Amino acid sequence: MTRSESLRTLKESVFDLVVVGGGATGSGIALDAASRGLKVALVEKQDFSEGTSSRSTKLVHGGVRYLEMAIRQFSRVQYNLVRDGLYERGLFLKNAPHLAHPIQLVTPVYRWWQLPYIYAGLLIYDLLAGNRGLGRSRLLSAREALRRYPMLKAEGLKGGVLYYDGQFNDIRMNISLVLTAQKYGAVASNYLEVVHLDKIDGRISGVRVRDRLEGEDFHIRCKGVVNATGPFGDGLRQLDNPDALPLLQVSSGVHLVLDRRFSPPDTGLVVPRTEDGRVLFILPWEGHTLVGTTDEKSDVSSHPEATEGEISYLLRHLRATFDLDVTRSDIKSAWSGLRPLVFDPQTADTAKLARDHYVELSASGLLTISGGKWTTYRKMAEDTVDQAISAFSLSPVHDCLTAGMTVLGGEGDMGEVRRALISNRGVSDTTADHLVATYGNRALEVASLVKSGFPGELVDGHPYLEAEVIYAVREEKAVRLMDVLHRRIPLALLDRRATGHALGRTLNLMAAELTWDEGRQSQERAEAERRLADGL
Ligand SMILES: Cc1cc2nc3c(=O)[nH]c(=O)nc-3n(C[C@H](O)[C@H](O)[C@H](O)COP(=O)(O)OP(=O)(O)OC[C@H]3O[C@@H](n4cnc5c(N)ncnc54)[C@H](O)[C@@H]3O)c2cc1C
Repeated sequence: MTRSESLRTLKESVFDLVVVGGGATGSGIALDAASRGLKVALVEKQDFSEGTSSRSTKLVHGGVRYLEMAIRQFSRVQYNLVRDGLYERGLFLKNAPHLAHPIQLVTPVYRWWQLPYIYAGLLIYDLLAGNRGLGRSRLLSAREALRRYPMLKAEGLKGGVLYYDGQFNDIRMNISLVLTAQKYGAVASNYLEVVHLDKIDGRISGVRVRDRLEGEDFHIRCKGVVNATGPFGDGLRQLDNPDALPLLQVSSGVHLVLDRRFSPPDTGLVVPRTEDGRVLFILPWEGHTLVGTTDEKSDVSSHPEATEGEISYLLRHLRATFDLDVTRSDIKSAWSGLRPLVFDPQTADTAKLARDHYVELSASGLLTISGGKWTTYRKMAEDTVDQAISAFSLSPVHDCLTAGMTVLGGEGDMGEVRRALISNRGVSDTTADHLVATYGNRALEVASLVKSGFPGELVDGHPYLEAEVIYAVREEKAVRLMDVLHRRIPLALLDRRATGHALGRTLNLMAAELTWDEGRQSQERAEAERRLADGL
């Protein structure tokens, strides 16, 4: 469905639900509701996953750190969080097999007493995962820890503990959720901002949206509105009721991307305790090394910037962890994401706020979902849609189907897709691996574009293809330059300089597809350059 077709349907129809926010939470809700047979609209004021959902650590996890808190504080909330997270981790890996996979993680240990302590914690983690476990945790000698993660500081190393979690591609998962929701009948559009909640006799009856591309306002009629705007949640709640007390405390988490020499291709590292008592991950990701994250109280912003203080913090920990020198010039990209944490006035430390989710129904019928994490997006969606059905007296055709639903691209045997790419489409082994890991069985459609006029690579040193730009525009709702360069392929997250080099070619391809005039092209270029200079 093209954007103008979506806009026409949004103006003409009456929906069961308008879901506001096209990140993990909103896209998951749109998919859940549409697949139950409800009539659903999904509106996003920027691009899908432009908020927090493209800026995660990309782990599908129960949360080892929450388990430690559960045990130390006898906290049922934290315990449930880990148990639910591990259950959802299993479903996530099953339902998005091309986008998520198990990863082994090494925790280095420099004090003898920590070995049994960490090992015991991870055995409980395995136990809670039950038959959805990804592999057994085990103790490593110092020599084996170094063999698995050779960059580690060797001096004083006593050993390590190896355990398993999941890793995934957040931007691709987000767009897959949107497209799967569309397959089930949801009408989804990016660049539509909800600027007003329409009411009849004090009850919400629709929304007024501003089309941020065309500058036009229009109304969408519906029975219920779901506020899934993540860190912006309080803004929409206060549009509904100016006296609503804040529900959220927002905290910023920064990641750095370094090149591949800082991590082995198949193993991540967990620094179990940073100087402020947190956990730090150093992970192989998309042929690079991902390092994160920080946790600082923050204001809400559409394009949060990584501050000097946050970057220095991460570099300092890298230097303390590695025998390799790490300098600022090793950083290929840095970005910040905002955690939407449910407010607890008793807790000043944002790292200690529970990552559980919370659903609230206002007097006029705004259903707000806050908190949670990427791993549990499906469960959050199920809970929210259950509550929406009763709050707005909706009549679904089915019960929730998402526990057994594969997202678009994930159906079938990926080995066969890979073989077909190589033997029928003449694609190289490396390109086949990249396409399968990005598009699943839809890789064949991308490969057809390679054959029909878009054979080139986008930029040296990265696997991304011109054909992917065309596919993003034709099939994946990309309408702006950075939609492609940041959120259909993760180039801007990985490598700012390479993104600068790919900009001109991507602009030309998009301009031809979308018939952009000179003015629009300059506007797109200027906006992309601003994002690369100031923060994604
Ligand atoms: C640093 C960091 C690391 C993380 N790592 C992990 C991890 O490894 N694993 C994990 O499971 N979770 C992780 N999380 C948590 C996870 O990323 C978030 O819980 C999740 O992405 C939140 O999604 P969301 O849809 O609620 O918010 P968002 O992704 O921010 O989406 C909300 C959307 O609403 C839109 N919006 C706002 N106002 C309006 C409006 N008026 N009209 C229309 N649209 C609007 C915004 O533009 C935005 O796109 C991490 C979070 C952070 C910050």
